[in-house]
Parts: sequence; C-alpha cells; structure tokens
Amino acid sequence: MEEEEGEEYLFKVVIIGDSAVGKSNLLSRYARNEFDMNSKATIGVEFQTRSMEINGKEVKAQIWDTAGQERFRAVTSAYYRGAVGALVVYDISRRSTFESVRRWLDELNTHSDTTVARMLVGNKCDLENIRDVSVEEGKSLAEEEGLFFMETSALDATNVKKAFEMVIKEIYNNVS
Ligand code: GDP
Ligand code: MG
Repeated sequence: MEEEEGEEYLFKVVIIGDSAVGKSNLLSRYARNEFDMNSKATIGVEFQTRSMEINGKEVKAQIWDTAGQERFRAVTSAYYRGAVGALVVYDISRRSTFESVRRWLDELNTHSDTTVARMLVGNKCDLENIRDVSVEEGKSLAEEEGLFFMETSALDATNVKKAFEMVIKEIYNNVS
C-alpha cells in the first residue's frame, strides 16, 4: 500500500469480557497510567485514545470500554461496529470468567465483518496466591482459537502496554 505524506492511522479496538475482570482498569492503565482499586461501573467515557509509533508513523488507537453493559448481557452492535482489534479479558482468579471467553468470541464474530486482531488477556496476574486458571490453560485456549495470549496486571502494570501494542501492531500489519 502506498502512503501519502502525513497519513494518519486510527484504529478502533474493543475490550470485552465478564464484569469486574479489569477491563476499565486495563484501559485507564494504558491510556492514563492510572489504576482505581474501587472502580465501580464505568461512567460516561466511551473510549480513550492513545498513540504509538510504528515504522515512523503515528498510529492512534481508539479503545472502547463497555460502560458496564456486559452485566446485562447487552453489549450493543454499535459497540463492535468498525472494530479492527479486540482484547478478550478474563480474571485469572475467577474460573467462571475464563469459561465465558468462548461466548465473548462468538459475540465478537457475530458482530464483525472484517479481520479483527484478537488477544486473549488473563488479567490480575498479581493475584498468584488465589490463581484459579493456569497459564497453560490460557495459552492452549488462545492456540485453539488463534488468538495472541498474555497475562497482565492492571494493578502493577505488568504487560499492559505490551498487550495493547501487540494488538495495535497486528492491526497495522493487517491493513498495510
Ligand atoms: P471491569 O468491570 O471489567 O471494567 O473491571 P474493573 O476495571 O472495574 O475492575 C474490577 C475490580 O477489579 C476493581 O476493584 C479493580 O480495582 C480490580 N482490578 C482490576 N484489575 C486488577 C488487577 O490487575 N489486579 C487486581 N488485584 N485487581 C484488579
Ligand atoms: Mg468497566
């Protein structure tokens, strides 16, 4: 693909997964380097934007957060519309959230008509002492479904930037 001088890239990325797995905190950690121990349902902001540089070009990711609708099993199709990347998040200390991953992948598939760069994210890896899903289980599900995989902690910032940037680079590779 030939590029014009100053061409900009803007990619929509969605974060999905069960309630309380840490989606909002992953986003605030990545976009603003903030963490909130008592975060309740997300209010207001639909997405946050952060830029990175790939091959000398500025690439902006517009990253969407669910605003808590997932509790009512009603994440709307508008949420998915135009998404070219997705982080599917579970909580390594709560197995039920890992068991929901396939349902989230199905929903994502149903709503997307293009190639979506997808990463499976096992969040809260700081909670090693109450781990309920092994790293191997995460890895093998990711392999079966053809997803990238990473364990993260929004609390101590482990792998958060890495996870988002890996998805954004993959999107860039998909479109360029
Ligand atoms: P969401 O419902 O998926 O958006 O989850 P939130 O981001 O609101 O987080 C739910 C709860 O988990 C909050 O009390 C957070 O402080 C906590 N939390 C989020 N990420 C982590 C993490 O990486 N480690 C730990 N220990 N707690 C986390
Ligand atoms: Mg939230």
